[in-house]
Amino acid sequence: MLRNDQLESWDRENFFHPSTHLAQFARGELPQRVVTGGSGVFIEDRDGNKLMDAFAGLYCVNVGYGRTEIADAIAAQAKELAYYHSYVGHGTEASITLAKMILDRAPANMSKVYFGLGGSDANETNIKLVWYMNNILGRPEKKKIISRWRGYHGSGLMTGSLTGLELFHKKFDLPLTQVIHTEAPYYFRRPDAAMTEAEFTAHCAAELEKLIEAEGADTIAAFIGEPVLGTGGIVPPPAGYWEAIQKVLKKHDILLIADEVVTGFGRLGTMFGSDHYGIEADIITIAKGLTSAYAPLSGSIVSDKVWKVLEQGTDEFGAIGHGWTYSAHPIGAAAGVANLRLIDSLGLVENAGTVGAYLNRAMKEALGDHAHVGDIRGEGMLCAVEFVEDRDARRFFGAERKVGPQIAAALLKRDVIGRAMPQGDILGFAPPLCLTQDEADRIVAATQEAVSEVLG
Ligand code: PLP
Repeated sequence: MLRNDQLESWDRENFFHPSTHLAQFARGELPQRVVTGGSGVFIEDRDGNKLMDAFAGLYCVNVGYGRTEIADAIAAQAKELAYYHSYVGHGTEASITLAKMILDRAPANMSKVYFGLGGSDANETNIKLVWYMNNILGRPEKKKIISRWRGYHGSGLMTGSLTGLELFHKKFDLPLTQVIHTEAPYYFRRPDAAMTEAEFTAHCAAELEKLIEAEGADTIAAFIGEPVLGTGGIVPPPAGYWEAIQKVLKKHDILLIADEVVTGFGRLGTMFGSDHYGIEADIITIAKGLTSAYAPLSGSIVSDKVWKVLEQGTDEFGAIGHGWTYSAHPIGAAAGVANLRLIDSLGLVENAGTVGAYLNRAMKEALGDHAHVGDIRGEGMLCAVEFVEDRDARRFFGAERKVGPQIAAALLKRDVIGRAMPQGDILGFAPPLCLTQDEADRIVAATQEAVSEVLG
């Protein structure tokens, strides 16, 4: 085994880390961690630290670390057949079985699953399918995509454009012109403090309607949204939001893509976020929880309505010109099958609902009265604490004070990993769905201490 100092210098000299201050990392000003193992909700590093991972990696290790059932399924698949492609009708038992298992769990109007590798490429697929569809239907002008400010849909060219966070646009010449953004369903940051939740929902729907009318409904193909905003701040929508939004989209014949990369497979205490909020999507994006990140795999679940047009398209124009070498990779598919079985056998969807509700309640009890805590919110196994300079005035701390990152660092000193969300002073939690109440208590106690250390 390499010495730690050897590995550290190789890391700083050779490895281009994503979402990282590259110059600071190269200069050694940012910490480095070599993760070596994990079990349940804990990870371990080479220095012997054992940390509770209250963000499940990047909200993806939903079944927890160290599940041998999935590791064994991956090993068995790799030994039997590590790879074959899935073009022109080829497949494996694992990929065919997984597609069936997904559709057995998905909303009833869903018809087929296209497999990719990660959430970003799945959303790229979705936009291509929507464009293809409108070309087949003879409406080539209907192509723009509406996303929300603070939405997160990936960091590719199109998906980085869909993402409504400044960091992912700045200096990349994004967003692309086909993407337009509408209001975030973020009640805590509503434009007028006097607005009720119902009024704010009506405001979001009216803003959407205004945007559609300004652009022309015949130029807009689809609306994409996460059931609960994730990376944008872990923000559940205001009551009635999805009902109101879907009414506007139906009226203007605009497709709905539900990005369930975070919410799919149990995180909200229901199999899909669409079940939770009554969302009737035309396409659903899945990734993370599909394999609990034991292998890279994503999917675009397409509805019957979309599928029929895709079939019509190939009858008219030949095979669809879309596919990745690693679409439906057998190892990812084997991981997915084992993972979905484990979610069922361990009752993790239910556990996400009950322990998630407990975590949110306990966080509110512990920090709800703190002078610098403006909002504590969550749904299922998602929870966020938002910090403010002045509660009553809803005045936020200046970004230069880095209050969110400071609190995340103070939490880490207590061996608990939370995530300083990228825009605003928001500490996010998305633990593995197998979290116990005792573990939830530990997250809350450590958060309370961290907040006291930084904000008094
Ligand atoms: N969509 C959502 C809702 C996400 O949260 C993410 C990643 O966090 C993505 C898409 C992109 O997925 P990936 O990072 O696997 O490309």
